[in-house]
Amino acid sequence: MKADTEVLIVGAGVQGCSLAYQLSKRGRRVMVIEKDSIAAGASKAAAGMLGAQSEWEGSDLFQEFALESRELFEEMVPEVEALSGMDVSYVNNGMLKPVWEKAGEDKYRRAAGRGYGAEWLSAHEALRREPALSKNIRGVWSIPKDGQLRAYEWTIALAEAARACGTIIRENTSVDRFLEADGRICGVKTKEGMIEAKEVVFTGGSAGVELLDEKDFTLYPVKGECLSVRMPHENLRHTLHTPEVYIVPKRDGEIFIGATEKPGDSSTGVSVASMQELMKAAVHLVPGLKHASIERFWSGIRPQTGDGLPYMGQTSRGLWVMTGHYRNGILLSALSGQWMAARIEGESVREDWKHLFAVDPQIRKGGVIHADHA
Ligand SMILES: Cc1cc2nc3c(=O)[nH]c(=O)nc-3n(C[C@H](O)[C@H](O)[C@H](O)COP(=O)(O)OP(=O)(O)OC[C@H]3O[C@@H](n4cnc5c(N)ncnc54)[C@H](O)[C@@H]3O)c2cc1C
Repeated sequence: MKADTEVLIVGAGVQGCSLAYQLSKRGRRVMVIEKDSIAAGASKAAAGMLGAQSEWEGSDLFQEFALESRELFEEMVPEVEALSGMDVSYVNNGMLKPVWEKAGEDKYRRAAGRGYGAEWLSAHEALRREPALSKNIRGVWSIPKDGQLRAYEWTIALAEAARACGTIIRENTSVDRFLEADGRICGVKTKEGMIEAKEVVFTGGSAGVELLDEKDFTLYPVKGECLSVRMPHENLRHTLHTPEVYIVPKRDGEIFIGATEKPGDSSTGVSVASMQELMKAAVHLVPGLKHASIERFWSGIRPQTGDGLPYMGQTSRGLWVMTGHYRNGILLSALSGQWMAARIEGESVREDWKHLFAVDPQIRKGGVIHADHA
């Protein structure tokens, strides 16, 4: 059978676009099928933090992947911006993790002391660096390398960079099911017809989960709600990250405040109670935010897995799966795209990561993510 494309990717979120970019850069013929528009899912809702340390407590294999992905942004952002002609508002001036009590200081000390670079700052020093912080904090952990960008723009820029390298992206086209021949996935069926491919990759996130064979995957939705505000006179200087709330000041003055965690909830909409909870925590941390004006609010559905590790591997029927990046899909997108491209190309990759992210539950083992938010 003659394939319509070499690699067919289902879903134009940050994972699908990152992979499409990496594969087409290598000269592969790539087609992305998106049921809505590019970045219509979780990738549009993300705050864009690249929290390889602020989102992790322990050092494990998964964190090594996150740290390497964070590093890759340094190289990829200028490359992708040049190819797409877009500005993704990449900011690399670190995050502050304010704490209120001794217990909070000690809790993070264990993780901070692992050589990745984190520094304890007294309240006095923290307020010198970020004057808008509450005067009642005990101090902050400063994480100089955890940056941030605009997640929606990053995803669109990856898609445009992929297009510049030859990728075809078909929006408003829903994949109904996978095609199989001789026990191997060889294409997809859409309303407009069949598309055959040598390799098929699922990057459909939470919205695409019904395409997957239920018994092989433990994927569930975790809804998150955010809002954004602007301060009347000045912007914050750093991203602030606590267990209750994170505050992410974008370069143009828009400040993202997030996010709720609602496991099992895939509804759309934003509740008053959630906004109240986030605004209360944000104003507690940065009292001046009570004078800020609300700009917008939104929600999105994070794709989470049973053990907190993404699926990045191949099923026994040859379907490539790249999903389940939960709270850190933007951070992980840089290396995930590069790494999955190498796997699809048959290059040798780190065996321990291959096992960690395997689809087969027998191969998959260890490495639990410990996010601040349960
Ligand atoms: C409120 C919130 C805040 C977040 N903040 C951060 C953050 O600060 N930092 C960070 O790293 N991560 C963050 N995340 C997590 C991050 O957004 C996700 O991990 C990431 O976007 C997942 O990307 P994805 O490509 O797997 O899925 P999605 O972005 O959901 O993309 C999947 C795409 O597949 C399409 N699709 C589904 N089914 C089909 C089908 N049958 N046919 C065709 N197309 C289909 C969908 O329409 C969608 O466009 C946040 C998430 C939320 C909700």
